Amino acid sequence: MVESKKIVIVGIPGVGKTTLVSKTVELLNLKKTTVSVYSFGTIMLEAARKNNIHDRDAIRKLPINDQKKLQLLAANQISNFNDKVVIIDTHAFISTKSGFYPGLPEYVLKIIKPANFISVSARPEEIYNRRMNDKTRNRILTSIDTIKKELAVQEAMLSSCSVLSGSPIIQILNKEGKVTTSAEYIIKAIGL
Ligand code: ATP
Ligand code: AMP
Ligand code: MG
Repeated sequence: MVESKKIVIVGIPGVGKTTLVSKTVELLNLKKTTVSVYSFGTIMLEAARKNNIHDRDAIRKLPINDQKKLQLLAANQISNFNDKVVIIDTHAFISTKSGFYPGLPEYVLKIIKPANFISVSARPEEIYNRRMNDKTRNRILTSIDTIKKELAVQEAMLSSCSVLSGSPIIQILNKEGKVTTSAEYIIKAIGL
């Protein structure tokens, strides 16, 4: 059996990961190329529903041990997906009450075995506005300075992931109004 290629896309809240992944799939479908997309947070949420959590933005407020259990459960589920190319929409870290919690600690990397990382960023001011204007989510509304700090933490966290897993990082700047351009860049970069 051909091994499933796992592509992990990360970025801070509101940077545009889910939007970019949807556009990427839309463009690939036009080319009759199929990829499977899974949202790490959605898999965690499905499991959390048993504990009466029904909002994806409530997961990061749970005690760290509960988040860890859900994270492990999601990682194991993802490792069983056998599709040829799997894109995983997730985070390099989560802002929790206990501080920055890694989205891809070593034990998760060992389970998922990512082939590539895609690191999405955008101008801090644009991320700020995207968070402010997106009424579908309960994101933390932080200052632009905090967003700059989050972008730096993302770089640091993802560097460790790359070193631990030996897999490369593609960096992408998701410019305002340029979702299609960014999605085309992703397709080219991962060779689909
Ligand atoms: P989260 O980590 O919280 O799930 P996310 O990274 O998946 O966030 P999205 O939900 O994809 O972010 O996007 C956040 C908001 O920004 C949405 O309202 C989306 O329409 C908008 N957006 C994303 N990319 C762009 C872009 N390039 N130009 C303008 N708006 C954008
Ligand atoms: P999202 O829709 O991508 O924002 O995911 C919803 C929530 O799921 C996030 O806010 C986190 O609480 C959680 N989550 C997503 N990916 C991970 C991960 N790799 N590790 C831990 N928690 C995660
Ligand atoms: Mg998202």
